[in-house]
Amino acid sequence: MLSLRSHIRNHIWTNVGNGKTTFVWFDKWDEVCPLFSILTPRIIANVGFSLETKLCDVRDRDGWRWPLMWSNRFPMLGLLSDFNLDDATHDKLVWKSRLGNIIEFGTASVWDDIRVTQPEIQWSNLIWFPQAIPRHSFIMWLIIHKKLKTQDVMCKWNTSGNANFNLMCCSLCSSGPDSHEHLFFECGYASRVWDGVKAKADMRAISNRWSDIFGHLTGVVNSKKAMHVISRLVVSASAYFIWNERNRRLFTRKRREHDQLVNVILSTVRLKLQSMKFKQSIHSDRILQEWTLPRGIIVADDDYG
Ligand SMILES: [Zn+2]
Repeated sequence: MLSLRSHIRNHIWTNVGNGKTTFVWFDKWDEVCPLFSILTPRIIANVGFSLETKLCDVRDRDGWRWPLMWSNRFPMLGLLSDFNLDDATHDKLVWKSRLGNIIEFGTASVWDDIRVTQPEIQWSNLIWFPQAIPRHSFIMWLIIHKKLKTQDVMCKWNTSGNANFNLMCCSLCSSGPDSHEHLFFECGYASRVWDGVKAKADMRAISNRWSDIFGHLTGVVNSKKAMHVISRLVVSASAYFIWNERNRRLFTRKRREHDQLVNVILSTVRLKLQSMKFKQSIHSDRILQEWTLPRGIIVADDDYG
């Protein structure tokens, strides 16, 4: 908690009332404050003030009680806001937002002010959407950041030179490199899997290159149309099960043929679709037919729930 002090210090301000509880040197009661940044303890003590001096102690009805010698030495003291010693209200600590507004103190507003903000990622809805399957989304996120532990990535980590990663090729086709670009979905095996599912997601015209697939999905990233939601589910499921199959072959003797993987992907997506609701549209019948779904999942409102 103490390490957060530097982050929150500039946000905690004092709304000055009668000045009786505000520490004049340390509290932030004016833009110039804290005065401790310009006045050392020695300077403060030399003129008879103490470190515990309150705001009401450096002010009387005629004005500030700063020593005369400070007026030339610390001209910024002349910029300090005035306050009324006879004010009936007490000093109060308040939160000042990063935009400089006094706002209601709350964990949400405080977090918003102290967190490091980044520009919004345009494709975030492509992998994190209400109908997404979390474990598939996580793999998609890793693929987009090229963070899966493929052999080409591992090779970059291996600085000792002891392991020969050149000997390790794709466990799916035994010929291409074990890399993100190859696995999704330029590999001969992955390509056959993709060809087996893409028609169901209305992506017949999309090639098996990841850049083309990603480009298509980002083009409809905010669409709530049923077919666009399906395309996100199908691509995520394909990527997940191909990565899963790659690992099975690499670490066990188990293997599935490409048509078996197609069936696993389609049945997984179909199961998900059965739990959703679709808005009635001109494409509804085609989607029901394509995925052999019950008519009960079509609803009149636009909630895909
Ligand atoms: Zn391959």
